Amino acid sequence: MALIELTKHGLYCAQADVYIDPWKSVPKALITHAHSDHARSGNGLYIAQVHCVPLLNLRLGKINAQGLKYGEQMTINGVKISFHPAGHVPGSSQIRIEYKGEVWVVSGDYKLEDDGVCTPFESVKCHSFISESTFGLPIYQWKDQHEVYAEINNWWKKNATDGVVSVIMAYSLGKAQRILKHLDQGIGKVIVHPVVGVMNEAVRDFTPDLPMDIIWNKDLTASNYRNAMLIVPPNSAEAMLEMFNPCSIAFASGWMNFRGGKYQMSSERGFTLSDHADWSSLNKAIEASDAEQIFVTHGFVKPYVKWLREQGKNAFELETLFSSNGSSEE
Ligand SMILES: [Zn+2]
Ligand SMILES: [Zn+2]
Repeated sequence: MALIELTKHGLYCAQADVYIDPWKSVPKALITHAHSDHARSGNGLYIAQVHCVPLLNLRLGKINAQGLKYGEQMTINGVKISFHPAGHVPGSSQIRIEYKGEVWVVSGDYKLEDDGVCTPFESVKCHSFISESTFGLPIYQWKDQHEVYAEINNWWKKNATDGVVSVIMAYSLGKAQRILKHLDQGIGKVIVHPVVGVMNEAVRDFTPDLPMDIIWNKDLTASNYRNAMLIVPPNSAEAMLEMFNPCSIAFASGWMNFRGGKYQMSSERGFTLSDHADWSSLNKAIEASDAEQIFVTHGFVKPYVKWLREQGKNAFELETLFSSNGSSEE
């Protein structure tokens, strides 16, 4: 039997009797990160990286959770378990599982660029690597992130000069903090949706250099903030937008540079910024893992497995329930 296998509850290590990012309730779950397709409610015990724990509490309510530092090892029935930076969002991890010298790594979601907010990705050598492939096609190549931040700030500056409020739609965990960190607050104030605000506060507890923001409430005087930037989660900020009208709306996502991507039509501007590895980073991460077997999940699984096999790799498809299409980037 393989050290990690796919069951109807999710990825499972029978020797330690633990699941990894299970999609059905289980007694003991190892969690790679707090995005909703990886961290679901109803598990008996959650084991995650220490910074992931408060984010899990925020998203799932009161849970029974245990935190491990990056690199710290716990042993269950002879199985050594440790969490290593995935660089995806704050508190995100790759999970390393070792038994009798055999090592597996479950990547969860990852990116290789240092986004200035979360602990940067660290490559972990293993025999078997379970990789995501959200952007596993050669058309996905991210430009330098600092160019994107400059585009965002230029767009904001122009809007501010015109007296138009800028609105950027971004996922509340990951993207929102990354954008906040790189906004030029010399242009104006940054106002965030309460959902983003509480997440920022939780992340700020262990990331003290995350800049401050103003959490939106209905008593703000909009006329005082005509040069503001609003950070809001996608499709859930009507009251806020109404208050600050006229505004210019943009979306920050990896799907932006893909013609016909879901959000391209519904917002005025798109900025290509992703918390997932692009095509060359996926290949780089797989190469660096030295893995003999690669399991691909989450995204363009079939074409990516085919490509890996053409490169002489031992690659397999793994059908999980992590979200895998353009409708979500979590
Ligand atoms: Zn994610
Ligand atoms: Zn995911």
